[in-house]
Amino acid sequence: MSPLTHLFASWLIATKTTNNPRDCRLVTLAGIVPDLDGFGLIVDLVTQFTQARPTTFYSQYHHVLCHGLFAAIVSAVLFGIFARQRWRVALLVFAIFHLHLLCDLIGSRGPELDDLWPIFYLGPFRKDPMWIWHGQWPLDGWMNRMVFGVLFAAVIWQALYHGRSVVGVFNQRADLAVVRILRGWREKVFGRTP
Ligand SMILES: [Zn+2]
Repeated sequence: MSPLTHLFASWLIATKTTNNPRDCRLVTLAGIVPDLDGFGLIVDLVTQFTQARPTTFYSQYHHVLCHGLFAAIVSAVLFGIFARQRWRVALLVFAIFHLHLLCDLIGSRGPELDDLWPIFYLGPFRKDPMWIWHGQWPLDGWMNRMVFGVLFAAVIWQALYHGRSVVGVFNQRADLAVVRILRGWREKVFGRTP
């Protein structure tokens, strides 16, 4: 699934399972950490224009380097160290990581029917076991869009009725501004609400 879908899902879980901004931020970010192995795409695009033999980092490492048990354990330990509630955050990070893997297994297919994305659970060290689901949803398919829509609606709901948004993970001031704007729109549409 898309990084934004993962971000929304992990933030919604983090708001319900943590009791301070730092831990909420760490658990939320854990939801998008696996996709760091897709950053090779940027290097590949650059080298396509600058080198005779462009790099292929994306196809080599995406879904191989960070989409497995090893990265889940490393992230749980690292994020746990920086957390206020260390054990709780470490366990949450481990769980969120696996939710990401599950979501990718369900909904990360390319444009062609056989363009399936497998999960190499013991990657990058071994390609066995390789998990693959032949009913995998296309990345830009309606099922993925529906999941995104539901999560997006839940994120907006949190902003309107609980005064916090996913933007707060990155910047508290911007978060306040987003909440103020959304509440302003609600007031314009529905009138003043308690
Ligand atoms: Zn992913």
